[in-house]
Amino acid sequence: MKKLLSICSLSFFTLFLISCTSNDENKSTNAQTCHSGNVVLTADFASGRMDECKALGNSEYLITITPENTPINPSPWYAFKITAKEAEQIKITIKISGKRENRYLPKITRDLKSWQVHPHKYHAKRLKMTINASSTPTYISAQEIIDNQYYVDWAKKLLDNNKVSVSYDVLGESTQGRPIYKIENKGKSKEWLVVLGRMHPPEVTGALALFPFVETLLANNELANKFREKYNVLVIPNINPDGVFMGNWRHNANGIDLNRDWIKFNQPEVQHVNNYLKSIVAKGEKIKFAIDFHSTSKDIFYTLPVNHGVEAPYFVKHWLGSLDKAMPNFTVIQQPGNKPNQGVAKQYFADNFNVHAITYEVGDETNRENIIIIAKNASTILMKTMLSNTDHNKE
Ligand SMILES: [Zn+2]
Repeated sequence: MKKLLSICSLSFFTLFLISCTSNDENKSTNAQTCHSGNVVLTADFASGRMDECKALGNSEYLITITPENTPINPSPWYAFKITAKEAEQIKITIKISGKRENRYLPKITRDLKSWQVHPHKYHAKRLKMTINASSTPTYISAQEIIDNQYYVDWAKKLLDNNKVSVSYDVLGESTQGRPIYKIENKGKSKEWLVVLGRMHPPEVTGALALFPFVETLLANNELANKFREKYNVLVIPNINPDGVFMGNWRHNANGIDLNRDWIKFNQPEVQHVNNYLKSIVAKGEKIKFAIDFHSTSKDIFYTLPVNHGVEAPYFVKHWLGSLDKAMPNFTVIQQPGNKPNQGVAKQYFADNFNVHAITYEVGDETNRENIIIIAKNASTILMKTMLSNTDHNKE
């Protein structure tokens, strides 16, 4: 593997993002660079993406972004770095090719620790902004950059920090041979909670919720210890490392939406998870519940209808109802739905294991501190609900 300086950030039991650098990722396949004598723009880093970049003169630059393939959900991703030998104010236009509209508000960072929404105008599929470029690199990105190395560093820190026995292994390889990791806490129990993340690469707020959610499940305290005596925990935090690396809008390296493959199992990423879960069940063990983290325009929980026919029909309603009561300033939106034959993960869990599963959707622009608070509460109350003696067969 070619070495490349990449960005990573860590978030552990804290509201702040701490950044670091690493060098074990491939060079971006989408790297484009454009420059004047003084200013350089490049996407030559993991999760970086500009499909075209032109210096127009007069300190103006035109960046075009293009999806990996079509048809595709409109979630244009861009991430690039600007450096100037001498300080200079530049104008940037990001043009979204094709019929698709912009989704993410541009974020800026210079320290790779704190990201802010950068002032911009959006009109006719063009995002326009002004940047004060300097010798300190300025990153502009659709969302915070959470690349593959970030997950590795997060998991290592999770293992080092807590006194809980947690294993961290490669579940299998992606289409392009990148490792798909699993984090597992296996005790004497035969029942499993499954957590999935990052099927869709730009859905970074889903990742920002998954981290504190999992940290809460794997904490060394009375509730979490009791929970893990009763349930094993399996976490696959980053199921689409190729898409994350390439800065894809939605798909894996084969141009497939992984959240439509849970019926055909054509993609290696989904095959690995399915095979592993089937091997657990083959040993006489049981998948009890699953959560799949994503992002969309608002915070919403896509659930299964109570009459869907799976066991403990009111379990999710009880959990999310308790979360709503526990957080007076946050309205829990539950949207039950049934998507048969579309290959969606939530449906896969219901159809194959006869249990509830949810898609945990986090708003693209939800306040980042609130994402953490909500996720910690959701995790804590999930453990309490799964441990309670409440009868989930009735409302
Ligand atoms: Zn998604």
